[in-house]
Amino acid sequence: MPLPDIELTITPPAHLYQDARRFLRFLRVAAQKHSVRIAVEVDRSGTFKLSIPARDCVGLDAFLQEITFQHGLYYYLCGVSNRRDVARLIVKPITEKLMQSQYDVAYPVQIKKHLLKGTPDWAGGAFLDGTAQKYEILFQKLKLKLVTGYEFARDLDDLLTEFMLLQLGHPKGLQSPKFNILVAKCDQQDVLRTKEVRKLFNQVHSLRTKGLHRLEREIPDSEISEIAQNVYEFFEWFDDYWRAQDEKTTMLSGKRYRRIRYGKESISTDAPEDFKALWAEVITRPCHDCGVIRGEFHLDGCDMERCPRCGGQYFCCDCRIEQDKFESADQSP
Ligand SMILES: [Zn+2]
Ligand SMILES: [Zn+2]
Repeated sequence: MPLPDIELTITPPAHLYQDARRFLRFLRVAAQKHSVRIAVEVDRSGTFKLSIPARDCVGLDAFLQEITFQHGLYYYLCGVSNRRDVARLIVKPITEKLMQSQYDVAYPVQIKKHLLKGTPDWAGGAFLDGTAQKYEILFQKLKLKLVTGYEFARDLDDLLTEFMLLQLGHPKGLQSPKFNILVAKCDQQDVLRTKEVRKLFNQVHSLRTKGLHRLEREIPDSEISEIAQNVYEFFEWFDDYWRAQDEKTTMLSGKRYRRIRYGKESISTDAPEDFKALWAEVITRPCHDCGVIRGEFHLDGCDMERCPRCGGQYFCCDCRIEQDKFESADQSP
């Protein structure tokens, strides 16, 4: 039986339409080297349709390995201005779909880390935080259809409750407040920072409570997978967040420096007054790129973090490149 052609679609948000076009152009050109012909069509609604003939699959495998293992996507993103958004909303979903067409499992968290950092490690099970790890397992169970949609919602509701109690430092054994009270408390204490996340938590809880009446246990797959993906992204952020707060210093050119917290950047005294005023106002809001608040460390790969050595953008300044060289020289025999 001949293999089917690979087809996938993506509808990027309107403000990233040009970024999507640019990335697809990059992909097409890069794929040609491996004799993979990627055809791209766009319809009026801004949906891109990619198709690759089945006979190109051998080349596709080599191509995917090249852009991931050789850090092709990472380097591509280094040259993009709104890198995090482009990574999250364009490069990651397309890469994920292409990988799923070739391999049975593609690990979303690894793809993202790889895109933003160019990490060489490529294995499943990436979360460090305990609750996040439990979620990762639950997420895989759902993907493998080991649990039904309702069972997933039920277990997730328990997990989110456990997560909130832990974050709030609720003593074990003491009766737990109702779910919505927990969500409100977490909001006050900056554990659940956005309206979307609070809504997501409440959505899971309402699916569970509805399911207590046996008749409402049929939840559409699309609804469950959307929730599952959004919760995954929340834990991904949360995990990155703690990782970033734990990393208080950094090695640059062989010397250790204290990282600069959001809002603690030194602004030159000669800077124009209107810039100083603007900056003072900006830091009252969460970081536009990574979402941390004043006084916290930016997440890995954030474009707002300053380098403590040169004052440039920390994620891409020369000090990081020098440090990489320094480390590789150190490891060579
Ligand atoms: Zn940031
Ligand atoms: Zn630097």
